[in-house]
Amino acid sequence: MTRTLPMTEPTPGMPDRVTIYEVGPRDGLQNEKSVVPTPVKAEFVRRLLAAGLSTVELTSFVPQTWVPQLGDAEELLDLLGEDGLGQQRPVLVPNERGLDRALEKGVTSVAIFGSATETFAQKNLNRSVAASVEMFAPVVKRSLDAGAWVRAYVSMCFGDPWEGPVPVEQVVDACSRLMDLGCDQLSLGDTIGVGTSGHVLRLLDALDDAGIGMEQVAVHFHDTYGQALANTMTAIRRGVRVVDASTGGLGGCPYAKSATGNLATEDLVWALDGLGIEHGADLDALVTTSTWMAEQLGRPAPSRVVKALAGD
Ligand code: MG
Repeated sequence: MTRTLPMTEPTPGMPDRVTIYEVGPRDGLQNEKSVVPTPVKAEFVRRLLAAGLSTVELTSFVPQTWVPQLGDAEELLDLLGEDGLGQQRPVLVPNERGLDRALEKGVTSVAIFGSATETFAQKNLNRSVAASVEMFAPVVKRSLDAGAWVRAYVSMCFGDPWEGPVPVEQVVDACSRLMDLGCDQLSLGDTIGVGTSGHVLRLLDALDDAGIGMEQVAVHFHDTYGQALANTMTAIRRGVRVVDASTGGLGGCPYAKSATGNLATEDLVWALDGLGIEHGADLDALVTTSTWMAEQLGRPAPSRVVKALAGD
């Protein structure tokens, strides 16, 4: 049997290249039930880099009591050494204490995690949207003063499990407040995966109208209702050039009913390869990595492409 590959058919209106922002080691492992040993995490990151992914979010400097899965941020960076440093190795920092810990380890790229809705801000950050922006202000300022690059995640951009549909104007307002702090990039999160293509376009148009151009925007879709890849491709067609994905589809969403979480990097790579869009990653190496990681976690990778290719 020959190796299965998509036929490449470049399509007008699509870019030559996009950047895959790999979130598996942080967002993926944070939302897995099992706690992965630090050396396995380090090998996971190294395999992802060897597979050609340029941007890999490594971990989160949260207190261990909040997220036991990522309670080893310092140890992971120690194990990674040079491989864990640079602007394309961001880490999540929840507050100034997290930033202090990250800067002590030589981190030069950080991400903060905001919310578009009041309920999620209260549940996740224990404060209002406005108060969380106040909390992030010194984190962003001190990061920029230290020469670091800053990404702002915004959760619940399309729907909220407690509030229902989230008005586009409300999302634009939350995004504007975070960008006004001086962040370099936004990542629009469809945390429960309810968004559809028209909704994606409306939000991106509204952000553009508010002065937040597509060169500042990344998208982070979840596959709860099978829309993650369609939504990502819609965003790329609209001008977004940084897209989040998690190798193997690692990471369920704790706030969605289904265990289906992040868009799988392999599924994204399949679609990009079919369009001849460059991204730098090697599909075979990703599938091999996901198959290995699935053994570590004791459960199969949710990615359709991994399922289809793992036996090839
Ligand atoms: Mg996610």
